[in-house]
Amino acid sequence: MVRSGLARARAVVSSGDRGLTSQQQLLSARDAAFSALRNAYAPYSSFRVGAALVGAAGGIFAGCNVENSVFPAGLCAERSALASAIANGEREFSTLVVATEADEPTPPCGICRQVLVEFAPSLEIVSITAGGASAHWRLAELLAHPFTSATLSHS
Ligand SMILES: [Zn+2]
Repeated sequence: MVRSGLARARAVVSSGDRGLTSQQQLLSARDAAFSALRNAYAPYSSFRVGAALVGAAGGIFAGCNVENSVFPAGLCAERSALASAIANGEREFSTLVVATEADEPTPPCGICRQVLVEFAPSLEIVSITAGGASAHWRLAELLAHPFTSATLSHS
């Protein structure tokens, strides 16, 4: 089930101009995302999320959501994965895989979209559910008019 959904998502990712993410990288990122999902700390929402970023050098960086009794202190899986990547020296990414147990594929929240655009405005996003459903977006379509460092330029 997941494989067929992933195959559809890969076809979309590969049909883009860049096509930087290989089938093997996508499979590895999916496995890393679901592995991270199993470690998610989500006692309040019970909405476990895993995420995995594929770095430009081929590395896979996973994260999971980490909730907190002070709800705003919680961290999404996407930003958790990004922090891991940055800590390991990677700052360029081709693809993000998001894994959930929801009925429908879940896109990153608005805060994560803003954080991701700082490093990867051309990011491809593949969202996969445990039931095998998948969806694909480009970050640029989810965050069409981002606030970036260029916005801060005074020249
Ligand atoms: Zn988020």
